[in-house]
Amino acid sequence: MSLFGKERICGVIAAATLEAMRQQLREAAKLTGTVELRLDWLAPGKPGDRDKRGQLGPLLGEWRGLCIGTARRTGAGGRLAGSVSDQLRALGAAARRCQWCDVETESFDPFDVSTVRLAIGKRRLLVSLHDFERTPPDLPALVRRLERRGGDAIKIAVHCHSIADSLRVLELCRGRRNVIAVPMGEAGLPARVLALRHGSALAYASVREKTAPGQVTLEEMKLRYRADQLDRRSRVYGLVGHPVSQSLGPVLHNAGFIARGLNDVYLPFLTRKLPDFLSAIEPLEIAGFSVTLPFKQAILKHLHDCDPLAEAIGAVNTVVVRGRGRLYGYNTDYVGVLRALQKRVRLRGSRVLLYGAGGAARAVAFALAQEGAVVGICARREQQARTLARAVGGEVVSRRRLRAEFFDAIVNATPVGMHPHADASPLEAGELNCRLVFDLIYRPVKTKLLRIAEQCGLETVGGIEMFLAQGMAQFEIWTGLRAPDKQMRTAVLKALGEEK
Ligand code: NAP
Repeated sequence: MSLFGKERICGVIAAATLEAMRQQLREAAKLTGTVELRLDWLAPGKPGDRDKRGQLGPLLGEWRGLCIGTARRTGAGGRLAGSVSDQLRALGAAARRCQWCDVETESFDPFDVSTVRLAIGKRRLLVSLHDFERTPPDLPALVRRLERRGGDAIKIAVHCHSIADSLRVLELCRGRRNVIAVPMGEAGLPARVLALRHGSALAYASVREKTAPGQVTLEEMKLRYRADQLDRRSRVYGLVGHPVSQSLGPVLHNAGFIARGLNDVYLPFLTRKLPDFLSAIEPLEIAGFSVTLPFKQAILKHLHDCDPLAEAIGAVNTVVVRGRGRLYGYNTDYVGVLRALQKRVRLRGSRVLLYGAGGAARAVAFALAQEGAVVGICARREQQARTLARAVGGEVVSRRRLRAEFFDAIVNATPVGMHPHADASPLEAGELNCRLVFDLIYRPVKTKLLRIAEQCGLETVGGIEMFLAQGMAQFEIWTGLRAPDKQMRTAVLKALGEEK
């Protein structure tokens, strides 16, 4: 069992008022029995008020679980403006209600551990280090320094700028029970979720207010990623690219794993360099991954083998990791686009214009050509359009010609209009001379392009059908099981509905 008990996901309670903290405690209680109380977030009272931090009795009266008290000073990334003595006083007032107190390593400098222990009484002492800028180079030496402070456990929370940084943080937990590893930042998110699987004594998650970059919510940590259920038999999957935070892949696939009773997880791996991710496959035991922009073509040279269709398309969106780290590539965008369009357009003999010539466009162009459509490619780089047109026996269409020619359908395969740049459209109304407009983007559900098309009286198709179909095909390739259509679809539509 962890030093902190059975409940290893720690909900962070951070609010300016006692009442807001009480609300958060009630929310946290539904999902975990461990919380951190950020006393430094409490706004100071008016002169003459009793210090709010001393009034925690009624606040914690309903709480039955474990509580870590923290009063972090501004110099260490907290909100307590004051000296170390003020900090120890705040912790001392709260300590009776907490089982642990978290004191940052900087606070030990003017005092020794006995002064800190005197302030917190019988509570156990967690010595923490935060670096909001970077992952320091010599982490093992830092761990030794923190251990010499004489606490009962240590916490290292550092900003990770790469997946490699986050692996170094996870490594600190190997063979130890007293280390809490917190890889901060978006690139550190997968390791933050996997920290418990790799031996961290706790994983932190926000109940409402985020108190650290890259922090996930308690609900996500517990219900979407099931961080406290994962073990070494859990297979790890993920999405590789940048950006990845807007992707609903984690919602889709984790819902599928839960519905099929699999103890597996799907995580968003943000990276600007493919090798940064590829070197994490072995240490994190990654079993497969989705590839998104800008790596759908770049991944090909790292594969050991490839499905012939994906090879012909020249773009891969799905990779299976076989024995000894061998990578095998597929393309499921192909399936997705057909499922989205076939019901609406008789593809054989139709004329379809594709705007964009990247990874997804290649899959769309191959699928359409295979079904007998005449494919036109328009792209801002004409050479790229020419290469794709040649590969599918299609034609290059210049942007100028869009105002003069008619197509059965126009497909947007660029990211223009994707969240968070939802007010942009790749094409103007005068360029939409067609019956149907299909936007591959699924977030937002209704893009600016689709709104313009609707105003022109055209039929529209959003990217969600394709997204669901390509994702379910990935799920089946990875697990060998039929994808639970209903649960995966419901989870994604619910997430999109909440967003609206
Ligand atoms: P990609 O490989 O990076 O290709 C993007 C294409 O768009 C390239 O041709 C690029 O041209 C062009 N482009 C980028 N910005 C542009 C701009 N401002 N103006 C004109 N052209 C621009 O990306 P991808 O993987 O093909 O993805 C493209 C879009 O499809 C993304 O929004 C993605 O989310 C979506 N998608 C959706 C699904 C689904 O299931 N619904 C599946 C796959 C992809 P340059 O080469 O000149 O940059």
